[in-house]
Parts: sequence; structure tokens; C-alpha cells
Amino acid sequence: MIFTNINTAEIVCVGTEILIGDIVNTNAAFISKKLAEMGISQYHQGVVGDNPERLTEALRTALERADLVITSGGLGPTYDDLTKETAARLMGRALHADEKSLAAIRAYFEKTGRVMTENNAKQALIPDGSTVFENMRGTAPGLCIEDFDGGKLLVMLPGPPRELEPMFSEQVMPYLMKFTDNVMLSRDINIFGMGESTVEEHLRELMQNSANPSLAPYVNTGEVRLRVTARAESLAECKKMCNEVIEKIYASPVGEYIYGVDTGSLEKALLLKLCEKKLTFASAESCTGGLIGKRMTDLAGASEVYFGSIISYANEVKENLLGVPHEVLEKHGAVSPETAAHMARGARERLGVDIAVSTTGIAGPGGGTDEKPVGLVYVGVSSRLGESVTKLNIAPGRSVRDYVRYLAASNALSLARIEAEKL
Ligand code: ATP
Ligand code: MG
Repeated sequence: MIFTNINTAEIVCVGTEILIGDIVNTNAAFISKKLAEMGISQYHQGVVGDNPERLTEALRTALERADLVITSGGLGPTYDDLTKETAARLMGRALHADEKSLAAIRAYFEKTGRVMTENNAKQALIPDGSTVFENMRGTAPGLCIEDFDGGKLLVMLPGPPRELEPMFSEQVMPYLMKFTDNVMLSRDINIFGMGESTVEEHLRELMQNSANPSLAPYVNTGEVRLRVTARAESLAECKKMCNEVIEKIYASPVGEYIYGVDTGSLEKALLLKLCEKKLTFASAESCTGGLIGKRMTDLAGASEVYFGSIISYANEVKENLLGVPHEVLEKHGAVSPETAAHMARGARERLGVDIAVSTTGIAGPGGGTDEKPVGLVYVGVSSRLGESVTKLNIAPGRSVRDYVRYLAASNALSLARIEAEKL
């Protein structure tokens, strides 16, 4: 029997380090999200130490319960890496040397200038009846033991996330999709300026009723990304299904906070807008200390539109290089809307650009007062339309300083894009 559908999956992460809390199990979180996107359900999940008896037991139980079992870890060359051997024994498969994997491991060692040992050759041993996933970022290949008669698949992946994550996205997902009649498409909706819980509140109904397309939120530093994933018989049908959901979200109160679909980042969205409108951009940075410049220059092609940044940390630099009047600094202080406005204007005029932004604030952890607390940041924007200033009260996260600075830069990039839209 060749089964045409995988309905349930179970993850088993292998490693004593996870059990004792030395490493956080990000692999389980990563794979779980991907499975949810694919519409594959999970009812159990496990972690087991580097012990063959307990691993055998965990795999046996998982294979009884689920169509698909995915392991992470224990594929390396050392004595405690025993996932593959244990699984092969459990499933009654002999191991054979896979020439292609052996050649890939050899090439990897040559490329990195290291010496290959006998142990490394062990990584090219593959259980009979397996599909191999090439490891582009390490030596241990991933693999899947196929038990078509029993209607089970056992996928084994290397432990390091930088190897596992691309292997899963680039090879395992397309492989698993072969077991369904469908194709799959994901679109990312990028949101800034509305918190995750508010987004969820507005979209609760849409999320709860979304099996296909599925709708899942991902959060990172001040941003929400909504991933819409559709499964259908054709790509055209997937696109249509995704678009319907995207339109509904645009029409909701979340809509005005969307800065792009599949755009990726605020800086990328700004760059695209500046290029589209043929506008130039610069920054004057106090509390962000060059972070806006860094994020802009991380992008290839930014030189077309981004001129540079004046990092004006000291008041003297604000005065001498940006032309902030001495009296303004005396009277209102460096962290003030007046200073932010002058900084932005100074950067626009002196660097000769269409739009300039400025940041000045209290990044913390020290330096806050009742009147000017940590997280108070003013972002100035200057264009031919004049100057405007936005006051931010950034609730400090755990790594206060990094968080405040990152969010201040994000806000500046977002405000610059909104200004570019108006010009
Ligand atoms: P290697 O060839 O590096 O030995 P491996 O497949 O044998 O790879 P492990 O030895 O189990 O994997 O783990 C290697 C490293 O990968 C760990 O030290 C840890 O940093 C990371 N890692 C392993 N499992 C996980 C997990 N579940 N979540 C996040 N990181 C993990
Ligand atoms: Mg290992």
C-alpha cells in the first residue's frame, strides 16, 4: 500500500542536553509550526535522552500513534549519536553505505579544510529503504525510512538548527507534499504598529476557522507576521485561496498596519517605496547609534536611495553637524520633540535628500527620570512637507537597551515609508 495522505505526526527530539535544560528545544517549535502550516495534526511530542533503550521505546510508541514521526538530533559522528542505528534496528533495516552521502561528506571536509575520520564515514550509513536529504550546512545527512506497508514514515534530522531548519524547508516539506495530491503555497503578511494580541483579537474568527488556508501568527521584536498557507490541487487555486484571506485581513482593522505582503522587513518595504517613487533618504541618529544605517545598508541596492547617517550622540555633534540650535538643546534638552525636529531637518538639508529621519531618546537601562523615562524616544521626520515628530513610549523588554533601540529604528523606518507615500 502506498498511502496518499499523512494526517498525524509526532516529533521526538533526542538529546540529554535538552532534558537537563542545557539547550532550548527550538527544533520542536520550528517543526511544529511547519507541520501546522501543512495541515498535519500533532497530538503528542517527546524528548528522550541519548539512550538506545528509551529511544527505541519512544520511537515505537510514536510510530504506533502517528503516520509520520520526525526526530531531531543524534545523527552526528560521536558515540552518543545513535538515532539512526536505533531506528534501523527497531524497523528491521540493515545499514548500507550511501555513496552519494559519502562523497558529500568528503567534499564538505575538503571545502572546510578539516580531516575526515572513520567516525564521519559512519554518517553515510543509511538504512535500507530510505530517502536521503542532503546536508548543505554540515555533514550528517537527514533521511526518511519509508515503511509503506505499514503506512508510516520516520524522518530523522540533524540536531543543529542551522542544519535542520533549511533541510526541513527545502527538502523535507517538498518530500512530504508528495504524499498528498495537493500543492501548497504560503504568503506572509507583514504588520507593524499593532501588537500580537490586538491582531489576534481582530482576526480571532478568521484564525479559528482557518484550516485551509491556515492562518498562523509569528511574532518578533515589535512585529507580527501572519502566515497564510493554502493547500489545493493547483498553484492557481492556492493563490486564489490565499488572496481571499489576505483581502479579508486588509479589510479588517489590522489592514492599515500592514506594510507588505512577502516583503520581509520594514527596511525592505521602505527601500521598495523609495525606489518606486525615486526618493532619497538619510538619517540622524542619537539613541539608535547607527542602527538605521545598518539596517538600510544590510540591503543590497540601498546605495541607490540611502545616502547615509549622522550619528550625533553628543550635543556638540547635534549642533555642529546637524545645526540644532544651542538654545533648543539648552531649553528643551537633547531628548525632546524640538531637538528631534531640528535633527531631521539638519540631516535632510545637509545630506541633500528628500526624506530624513531622526531618533533621540532614553535607551536605558539607566538614565531615565520621572519626566523622561527609559523608553521615551522622539522620532523626527523631515521632507518638503515640513517636520513632524512622533513620541514613542517603548515598554522596555528584557534586554532593555537593545529592545528600545531596535524598536526606535523600526518606528523611524516605518514613518519614513509613510512619508514617502505622501510625496
Ligand atoms: P552533530 O553532528 O552536531 O553532533 P547531531 O545530529 O548529532 O549533530 P546532536 O548531537 O543531538 O545532533 O546536537 C547537536 C547540537 O544541536 C546540540 O548541541 C544543540 O546545540 C543543537 N540541538 C540539538 N537538538 C536540538 C533541539 N531540539 N533544539 C535546538 N537545538 C538543538
Ligand atoms: Mg551529536
